[in-house]
Amino acid sequence: MGLYKIEGVVLRRRNLGEADRLVTVLSRDRGKLTLVARGARRPRSRLGGRLEPCTRFRALVVEGRSLDLVSQVEVLDARATLRDDLERMAAATILLELTDRALADRQPHPDVYQLLEAALDLIGRGGAHLAWMWYAARLLGATGHRPSIVRCVACGQRSSGAVAWSVPLGGALHERCRARDPRAVALPGGAMALLAFLLDASPAAVRRLTPPVRDLTAAGEALLAYAEARWEARLRAPAVAARLAGGALAVVRAAQD
Ligand SMILES: [Zn+2]
Repeated sequence: MGLYKIEGVVLRRRNLGEADRLVTVLSRDRGKLTLVARGARRPRSRLGGRLEPCTRFRALVVEGRSLDLVSQVEVLDARATLRDDLERMAAATILLELTDRALADRQPHPDVYQLLEAALDLIGRGGAHLAWMWYAARLLGATGHRPSIVRCVACGQRSSGAVAWSVPLGGALHERCRARDPRAVALPGGAMALLAFLLDASPAAVRRLTPPVRDLTAAGEALLAYAEARWEARLRAPAVAARLAGGALAVVRAAQD
């Protein structure tokens, strides 16, 4: 029976059997893992409260026949500042869902781990909407799905003045090339520039950004549609994002269980 140590961030958790939980985490060195937390739902379990979504932790993992077991969990950062605020929690929920959908199990992605940490920190410092958009853009790049914005996806020439966003073709389209994808969505110039910026921006640069709401909303929708198509997943995130953008955050359910 093998043992290994991990540092990771909890992406989601589900109930398993009577008292256990299945916990999906992004580990720094081993990629995405799904682990069993035995007895985590028992009232006095030491595991339960330590494996909440967003928590950064260190743990010992015991190799099992099918699924590995997580034990000896030490919380490194519970991210309490995210939990206290609906808007921040909603943005964090998007990050976790995107990560879960984008990555296959057990493929190391230390770069994505760093991005996720940086994005969760960004949310904690405010600017929740930009933080998840930055993360989505960088995650697409890190997983080989970087959209083409500097060059038009139809003709390959520089895309200055591109007006539309084509999900199947993979990015920006000139007005004259728009017929190549009749379903391409019109995108304001500011939103296109914002997307291009986010693909390579550092967290510090994102913090200094204050784009108009119109560009934020349009760029966010374009990114999510793109991510859904590339990762072949219907995300819950768009509904959450729409509420974030609209500022009408009545109820956001993280729906982790
Ligand atoms: Zn073109």
